Amino acid sequence: MNTSAARPPLKALDDALVELLACATPLGGKETVSTFDADGRVLAQDVVSALQVPPEDNSSMDGYAVRSTELADEGVVLKVSQRIPAGSAGSALEPGTVARIFTGAPIPAGADAVVMQEDCQPLADREGFVRIQQLPRPGQWIRRAGEDVTRGATVLSKGERLTPAALGLAASIGMDQLQVARRPRVALFSTGDELVMPGEVAPEQMRPGAIYNSNRFFLRALLLRLGCEVSDLGIVPDQREATLAALRSASQNHDLILTSGGVSVGEEDHIKPAVQQLGSLDLWQIAMKPGKPFAYGRVGSAHFMGLPGNPVSSFLTFLLLVQPFLLRLQDVADVATKSIAVPAHFTWSRADKRREFLRVRRNAAGGLELFANQSSGVLTSAVWGDGVVDNPAGQTIAHGDTVRFIAFSEWLA
Ligand code: AMP
Ligand code: MG
Repeated sequence: MNTSAARPPLKALDDALVELLACATPLGGKETVSTFDADGRVLAQDVVSALQVPPEDNSSMDGYAVRSTELADEGVVLKVSQRIPAGSAGSALEPGTVARIFTGAPIPAGADAVVMQEDCQPLADREGFVRIQQLPRPGQWIRRAGEDVTRGATVLSKGERLTPAALGLAASIGMDQLQVARRPRVALFSTGDELVMPGEVAPEQMRPGAIYNSNRFFLRALLLRLGCEVSDLGIVPDQREATLAALRSASQNHDLILTSGGVSVGEEDHIKPAVQQLGSLDLWQIAMKPGKPFAYGRVGSAHFMGLPGNPVSSFLTFLLLVQPFLLRLQDVADVATKSIAVPAHFTWSRADKRREFLRVRRNAAGGLELFANQSSGVLTSAVWGDGVVDNPAGQTIAHGDTVRFIAFSEWLA
């Protein structure tokens, strides 16, 4: 085997994503879950409303429901003919009277406005009468039937990822259960003989050359946030047989095998030959920084993705490539990462040949500040930062330039 092969040409990140997504055939399985448990899951059905919300015109204030045309002058005194708390139906408003009404209570037939209680004064010497001190506009303080949801409306669509607000909206139209895409099953392992698990060896006892396995922690957390079922296979030693054994067992009942480390083409990188022996593998050099090496392949019926070992490279390639892939497996319609235009409050003179993702954070002035050390091993940058600047290849940045910013919250929501 030739391990000193000529460097393959760099692949553009967008091309890599297109190729990956073309391989991401949706899993297709569905399950029905309680709306309570559906946060973060992907809808496998359109959610259509069988009723309108609100169900009827109702008051948005505590006050008095009136016929606005009957109120000629401020200070008019009228009889309070009924009391309508939230949850009760009330009856048609008698002409020449008003109804005491509370927030959320249905507007009685005949009334066309609400005067808030702060603008009314119950008469101390005449029980059951109130002075209306402000003339309402017709429609004032009335929430209209159906202003939120009309009957028959599609309020949530297949392929949408459910948010807390979406769960509330589904509940507001009576949905106690939702059909969602099944969770992708992901096997995760780290490679690298230098890796030690926190807890197994105390910091002061670490042997020379050893480092703690950090990738395992954020990759597992990222997968769980994406709704995946994770089989954590731990650390696999840098040996051919151990790598083969881990891949064989992981390929049995997982949709994706995800690894970190060992995807360069050094002698200690065993992922490539092992995946090739059991299935197929493309090793890519992606024109992005950090994060150049990336592998995609198949082992049996499982997809395989190999991330670079450097923690920031691993983190960013996960967000930019693995996450859209996993969302597409769940049939998410829109997997594009969204960036926004924000002014840079820093300068960047080291233009790189590769598209670069600079760790930055927003300041109170609405600009972006740069983390001083942009090395791919410096995980502090991803904690200090609240996102990255997506900087095109060959681009320098002057203070005040508008750059493309991707918030981590965009991905990690
Ligand atoms: P590799 O891609 O295996 O050549 O690793 C590149 C760099 O990332 C090396 O400095 C490794 O020690 C480091 N690295 C690999 N895996 C991990 C991990 N799971 N946690 C922290 N650092 C890692
Ligand atoms: Mg390694």
